[in-house]
Amino acid sequence: MSNPQQYDLLIIGAGVSGSALLYTTARYTDIGHIGIIEKYAAPARVNSLSSNNSQTLHCGDIETNYTLDKALKVQRAARMLATYCLSQPDRDHLIYPYSKMVLGVGERECALLRARFRELQPHYPHLRLLEKKDIARIEPAVVTARRGGLRAEPIVALGSIDEHTAVNFEALSRSFVRRAAQSEGKTVDVFYNENIRHISSEADRFLVASDTTCYQTRALVVCAGGHSLKLAHDLGYGRHYSCLPVAGSYYFTPQVLNGKVYTVQNDKLPFAAIHGDPDVLVPGKTRFGPTALILPILERYNYRTLPDFLRVLQFDRRVAAALWELLRVRDIRHYMVKNILFEIPLIRKLLFLREARKIVPALRYRELSFAKRVGGIRPQLIDKTQGRLLMGEAKIDTGRGAIFNMTPSPGGTSCLENAVLDMRSVARFLGAAVDEQRLAQELLGEAPEPGQGEFAGRMLDDTARPASRWRRFLDRLQR
Ligand SMILES: Cc1cc2nc3c(=O)[nH]c(=O)nc-3n(C[C@H](O)[C@H](O)[C@H](O)COP(=O)(O)OP(=O)(O)OC[C@H]3O[C@@H](n4cnc5c(N)ncnc54)[C@H](O)[C@@H]3O)c2cc1C
Repeated sequence: MSNPQQYDLLIIGAGVSGSALLYTTARYTDIGHIGIIEKYAAPARVNSLSSNNSQTLHCGDIETNYTLDKALKVQRAARMLATYCLSQPDRDHLIYPYSKMVLGVGERECALLRARFRELQPHYPHLRLLEKKDIARIEPAVVTARRGGLRAEPIVALGSIDEHTAVNFEALSRSFVRRAAQSEGKTVDVFYNENIRHISSEADRFLVASDTTCYQTRALVVCAGGHSLKLAHDLGYGRHYSCLPVAGSYYFTPQVLNGKVYTVQNDKLPFAAIHGDPDVLVPGKTRFGPTALILPILERYNYRTLPDFLRVLQFDRRVAAALWELLRVRDIRHYMVKNILFEIPLIRKLLFLREARKIVPALRYRELSFAKRVGGIRPQLIDKTQGRLLMGEAKIDTGRGAIFNMTPSPGGTSCLENAVLDMRSVARFLGAAVDEQRLAQELLGEAPEPGQGEFAGRMLDDTARPASRWRRFLDRLQR
């Protein structure tokens, strides 16, 4: 019998990234012994917690800071996630249909959205250009002026009303873990309340140490948010990265919006534009935000993560230079100061009200309340060699069986796409097989020609497998 603490693949962190990888490797590979280690008592207690993010399934159509390439990449990732969610028996707790739009206010933003519509239209069949009267039908509060009547300035929006646009990433993480544990023919171990302190390597194994146990594994994928970088540093990787944690806060109002309303992003500040969203777990309210405040911690409201922050910051001349470059940009400087003010109790509501009124002009001071203990932290990386802040997800794939993921927004949306990448990389490293055909049918909505597609390892012969109850259910759905 194999030693229970020895694994083919160990995953650290059971947020939506780690749990998606647990699911994909358990379902689509022949890797026999997989484990996941989480420091809290349940999956998704940090950024994937439903209250800590905006719950948006990003498709790239209402995110004006995305290039077309990036938008289409995110669209593919979102499609994969929606396919998974919609095929689950508890789909109504995972994914939600709301209208969505990005709102342009003033001539410049309206012109920008009209041009963007022309660019995106061929790729987004559901996307509509919404004039003021169309917006009024979907979101009456957006077109209503402060003193009643229609707001005067030009507005236009891009949006759709018939798509799934919100995901409970916390429920999704639980679903992934549950489904992975049901996989037949392999051992899937899930450990909670185990904080991994240190990683080292020895011969062809990694040694993964918590306070009480030392696990051994042939392959290792760390999906621990900002902590991933600290664990990468343990093995000597990613030393050219530093981590800048950007916290997001939110405000609740009574329900003034029916769906998601985004605003046009500032290119220099991709995470800056606030939006208004329904909260899938707080009916009858609209949640506005997030703000963006740099904080010296890796987990929101957890000041015990300060030492870990100092370890991943690795402050030196190059970090100082990168921060200085950021601060030299007037928009960024103003934005940082504004976001500090957003956290000061007596004035924050007044300041935030001005921002939120871009979306709902008639919003009143007394309707706004700071959402306590809501909002997570985006672990944005600084590339010290290039002296710049990296936007989006970052991955260190060592090519030697260890991968480290740092996932700011839209990391929830891209969890499955990212997991599939890591699954292929790990399978290649272990010499394991990936069932590409099953993956294509179930998640990508297509069946690859034999020998086609970007896959690693051997391809399993799927025709030999008797159709599972699950497969038959999916077939019925497709029909
Ligand atoms: C304000 C805000 C808004 C966002 N909005 C969106 C959005 O609308 N749509 C979207 O797609 N994305 C959004 N995101 C991004 C998304 O929330 C994250 O990308 C995603 O949740 C990251 O998942 P993860 O599993 O990588 O990290 P996390 O959810 O943070 O999970 C990491 C896990 O690792 C565990 N861990 C850490 N260290 C250790 C250790 N040493 N040992 C064991 N376990 C450890 C933690 O306990 C945690 O469970 C938002 C993020 C923020 C902060």
